[in-house]
Amino acid sequence: MSAKTAQFITIRLSRASRRRSKMSKKARVAIFDFTGCEGCELNHLNFEAQLLDILEHVEIVEWREAMDEKADGYDIAFVEGSLSTPDCITRIHKIRRKAKFLVAVGACAVIGGVNAMKNTRPSEEIREEVYGKDKYLFPSLPALPLSAVVKVDFNVRGCPMTQIEFLKVFTALVMGKMPVEPDHSVCVECKLKENECVYDKGMICLGPVTRAGCDAHCPSFGQYCYGCRGLVSEPNLKAMEEILVNHGLSMDEAHKRLLLFNANQIEGVTS
Ligand code: SF4
Ligand code: SF4
Repeated sequence: MSAKTAQFITIRLSRASRRRSKMSKKARVAIFDFTGCEGCELNHLNFEAQLLDILEHVEIVEWREAMDEKADGYDIAFVEGSLSTPDCITRIHKIRRKAKFLVAVGACAVIGGVNAMKNTRPSEEIREEVYGKDKYLFPSLPALPLSAVVKVDFNVRGCPMTQIEFLKVFTALVMGKMPVEPDHSVCVECKLKENECVYDKGMICLGPVTRAGCDAHCPSFGQYCYGCRGLVSEPNLKAMEEILVNHGLSMDEAHKRLLLFNANQIEGVTS
């Protein structure tokens, strides 16, 4: 995050702090994880510049990674990971019942993420591959985004979640405003930053069909977009595949590249 951005967010949080000081209590926040690598959760700990401001506004009431206490209810639940077992379904319903706002954090929670690649193969085959003869001891489901099971109020996309977007959603919630989610492609942000397109450097990129909001983070560092933020609402996948094929991938490779993060959206597995 640039110093300018950090300063902007810090100012916003400071204003929110003054507004909240007129209110009596801090927002009660809980953090939960389901199937994922916990990278998004760990990213919560990297808010060096804003951490003290954040703690002025929130009371963390439940977080498995940092404390033993459990809470009866919370204003905001930040939830990482996809739902992949019957136990996950039971637990997310409990969290939803206790939360005023539920925020899906990271690609696994928002779109199913890389876990959803398993949904493209028969589940019995996958279970046998992973658990062998003990597969009946480990019930599993297709890897689902939270929104396939419960109402999700806001998304923080990316793999891992982007801190700047998390802070935008967080700031909006503590100020009582509705966070706005972009529905244009990463290419728009990339062009606004005047980046050289990685296609001109012989690489391929999923920016044309990927939902913006990351400020074209990867292309800005000379890397291609993997599509970790999910697709825009009306992606032209056929054109995207054609572009990938025209730049050297086979049709099968192009399709697999698109499935990496977006298997649920492309193959339609949502429940
Ligand atoms: S979105 Fe990425 S970083 Fe976050 S839990 Fe899933 S795999 Fe890990
Ligand atoms: S680098 Fe990727 S995101 Fe940027 S303009 Fe090219 S295709 Fe779009």
